Amino acid sequence: MTTRASGHAVAVIGGATAGAEVAGSLADRGATVVVFEQNRRPFGKIEDGLPRWHVALRRKEYEVIEAKLSRPGVHFVPHTRLGRDLDFHDLTSNWGFHAVVLANGAWRDRPLPVEGADDFVGRGLVYQNPFVIAFNHAEDPAWEGPRHEIPDGALVVGGGLASIDVVKILMLETTRAALRARGIEQDLIELEVKGIPKALEAHGLRFEELGLRGATLFYRRTSADMPLMEMPEGAPPARQEKVRQGRVRMLEKARSKYLFDFEPLASPEGLLVEDGRLAGLRFRRNRMEEGRPVPTDERFDRRGSLVISSIGSIPEPIPGIPRKGELYAFTDWDVGRLEGYPTVFSAGNVVTGKGNIVASRKHAARVQAVVEHFLGLAPGGSHEGEEAMLDPVRKEARRLAERVLRDLAPSPPLSTGETEALLRRVGERQRAVGYDGDLAAWIAAAPPV
Ligand SMILES: Cc1cc2nc3c(=O)[nH]c(=O)nc-3n(C[C@H](O)[C@H](O)[C@H](O)COP(=O)(O)OP(=O)(O)OC[C@H]3O[C@@H](n4cnc5c(N)ncnc54)[C@H](O)[C@@H]3O)c2cc1C
Repeated sequence: MTTRASGHAVAVIGGATAGAEVAGSLADRGATVVVFEQNRRPFGKIEDGLPRWHVALRRKEYEVIEAKLSRPGVHFVPHTRLGRDLDFHDLTSNWGFHAVVLANGAWRDRPLPVEGADDFVGRGLVYQNPFVIAFNHAEDPAWEGPRHEIPDGALVVGGGLASIDVVKILMLETTRAALRARGIEQDLIELEVKGIPKALEAHGLRFEELGLRGATLFYRRTSADMPLMEMPEGAPPARQEKVRQGRVRMLEKARSKYLFDFEPLASPEGLLVEDGRLAGLRFRRNRMEEGRPVPTDERFDRRGSLVISSIGSIPEPIPGIPRKGELYAFTDWDVGRLEGYPTVFSAGNVVTGKGNIVASRKHAARVQAVVEHFLGLAPGGSHEGEEAMLDPVRKEARRLAERVLRDLAPSPPLSTGETEALLRRVGERQRAVGYDGDLAAWIAAAPPV
């Protein structure tokens, strides 16, 4: 083993968009980087979070991630989860790393804020993350995780981009099932690109003829308040109005293409339970007052075949990482620092929760175009340019790598012996999980579907 140019060693937790970018940048500057990834493959949200119709984006991003993790100086360690296979304190104190970068994303669903709701997980209630993961792997024969039915007449609680993806999955899959029942096999990607009315027209059908109820998206504010586009900081009133109108248009476009219902100003506050199963929700009607939803006395019940909660993702708790509420207790949100752990930094969704939209808030108009492509709402349903969604995540990750290197500069590099000892420990773990160090072959042996 040789000591690399800078002689510094950095551990990165999570090998997806942010982790791979940090790792590649650090290694290019001479650091030894060890990437610990909980899954077999390092593709994170790209593989398991973005609905599988983002074919071009996924293919491109898989290549980018693999290329970054294959740079000289990067050591990939799959099937290794911080908090289960690695202890946070041990990693930061004993392994010999100069710094640890958390790039483990945001994989836990924010809990549905109705008392007792979680008792019905798997019995009428499902959360967005497992729902999308199961949808993405539905056609993967080797998939061993849970599979979820995709029934007609589901209720989705949400409001952000991810909830639109969820309601789209429901509409597209139930339409395909209804067509299948008529002997018509409809390709998912084509249906997403064309939109439901156009695709049905080609079969000489209208949606009403399919006998579907459709899915409904419930949001606590109005469509003009939906976080589909971030409001630029300090925007003058005219600009604010433009953003609000842009959001309304975006939702209208999505509804006309994918035909879901929308119920604004509705917050879930009770459970409708039948035969031990969640059969729907009781909602409280809100009104908007100075930009905030205020509950009124009006209540209404909605029954549904399934309730999907899509109200945001937060980082998974990891033993040893201090938390404040549902987030990590960062003392510096810019670079994700934790009190008492001067060598720890963080990058990507683990810090922002939603990465690119926040980072790009100064360019709202451009963001709107990119988001419309992402949601399949651009003319012709094209997804062109949607990888721009990830540019800010990568840019921030590179900036973080620079910062880590600057902070490390004064600390003494590892000696050759210390580097060898560190990499011996890394090698032991790689062998224990059956990884021989050849990333391309490892991925090719079990490629993403
Ligand atoms: C429906 C949907 C819509 C989205 N919309 C937006 C959007 O509008 N704006 C936006 O910025 N982003 C959006 N994203 C997310 C976008 O994909 C991310 O910004 C980007 O991919 C995040 O990259 P990341 O590397 O930070 O996190 P991830 O891709 O989540 O990668 C984290 C990696 O860490 C691994 N990991 C997790 N925990 C551990 C652990 N304990 N030990 C070891 N490894 C671990 C994971 O397996 C994963 O590979 C959306 C995602 C979805 C699902």
